[in-house]
Amino acid sequence: MICPRCHNENKYDNLTCDFCMATLPMSDKRKAEIERRHEEERKAKMKKSMDKLIGLLFGVLVIIAIVIWGLFFR
Ligand SMILES: [Zn+2]
Repeated sequence: MICPRCHNENKYDNLTCDFCMATLPMSDKRKAEIERRHEEERKAKMKKSMDKLIGLLFGVLVIIAIVIWGLFFR
């Protein structure tokens, strides 16, 4: 998001300019863009935690398999 007053680049969802504190214009298009990116970030976060959970589950399964193997196949 380019500030209309000082022409510095701001983060896409800034409400005010980080450099000159001017209020950045909020058009419907920009609002929709912010919404879309927030949604994308949320999905990426969810995917990350799902990957972690699957990794953890797999680890637990391996441990259970080793324990069962030790109990029944001695
Ligand atoms: Zn500015």
